[in-house]
Amino acid sequence: MTDSTTSTLLRNVRAVLPHRVSERTNIFIQNGLISRVADSDPDEGSGAPAYERASDSPSTFGLEGLTLYPGFIDVHIHGAIGVDTMAADASDLNRVSGFLAAQGVTSWLPTLVPAPHADYSQAVIAINGAMNNQIGARILGVHYEGPFVNSAQCGALRSEYFKTYAAPDDLDALPLPSGEAARMITLAPEVAGGVELVRELSRRGWVVSIGHTRAGFELLDLAFDAGARHMTHFMNAMAPLHHRSPGPIAWGLSRDDVTCDVIADGIHLDPHMLQLLLKLKGAERLTLISDAIAAAGQGDGDYQIWGETITVKDSRTSNARGNIAGSVITMLDAVRLMISLGVTEVGVAGIAATNPARLLRLDQECGSIEEGKRADLVALDAQGNAVLTLIGGEVAFRKQ
Ligand SMILES: [Zn+2]
Repeated sequence: MTDSTTSTLLRNVRAVLPHRVSERTNIFIQNGLISRVADSDPDEGSGAPAYERASDSPSTFGLEGLTLYPGFIDVHIHGAIGVDTMAADASDLNRVSGFLAAQGVTSWLPTLVPAPHADYSQAVIAINGAMNNQIGARILGVHYEGPFVNSAQCGALRSEYFKTYAAPDDLDALPLPSGEAARMITLAPEVAGGVELVRELSRRGWVVSIGHTRAGFELLDLAFDAGARHMTHFMNAMAPLHHRSPGPIAWGLSRDDVTCDVIADGIHLDPHMLQLLLKLKGAERLTLISDAIAAAGQGDGDYQIWGETITVKDSRTSNARGNIAGSVITMLDAVRLMISLGVTEVGVAGIAATNPARLLRLDQECGSIEEGKRADLVALDAQGNAVLTLIGGEVAFRKQ
């Protein structure tokens, strides 16, 4: 599907480009890539642009009234539509990918929670299977949320499976998808051996993100020097901001060289806090995540997830301990909330696509509407609903 040899023209489309919105652009797609982006002449008549005439009758989409964004990238998601990444097989993951494509998501990182080794293995076998037969939103690799995290900030994670780090062998407990798959991990540098762990993971090419943590400045600086540059669901599951005890939140706010991801569901973070984060970090240093669980897309109710009952009421999740247990939003919901808070369209493309692509070091390949990038695109209507999603230039979703 990604190696399409067809060509496609998106004609006279309103498109969110890296630094501006073009009101009328022709976007030409060949072999799954954006081959040309050219502002169209407002006086252009019925004659096709030269590069279109030169091609072999491309399929053309009229996208009047819609705005085209780079496809969204969700680097932290545990499942949706009843599928949990810890219990899924490859076809379950493909179903999630289909659901996500209808929500404007063009790639994602199945995210795993601390569990016995056999469960991790099973989950990665499923990821491998789905990656070998990609349908819908592309699976990029794996995100391990834990197991090297602080049990005092466990959130909804099961602390009986948390680990400390002694030697590189300990990493063998984390199975990996084969090939070039992206590898991301959320860890707390204060676990025994934590800074060495960051160093070893960085050496192995993992994207290291700090989360589920109570670490102080000194340790966080050491973790940064060892390769950690990002923070997971910033402000959630970390020691709160205190004026006499500056912890991870103060550190993340004070460092311009650290990026953060946020769950913009209006529940994990009050919208006023999201606005404060936009002011302090700027849209260029924020990434949206859904942190969605299997209940996403299923409505309110009780769900058996991660060995316990998670209740969803009025779109808010809680487990038996009363902790919030992930969200039930999609990236599209987060995008709509951020638009309502006044984030520009260029800013939205950054926090939903370009920044996560850069985080995963895939920004040369995807995450923006530029020549040479993968044609991963979503067209939204004025209400912020996905109307058309292209993945590698192929239609992955089209609203009926
Ligand atoms: Zn999570």
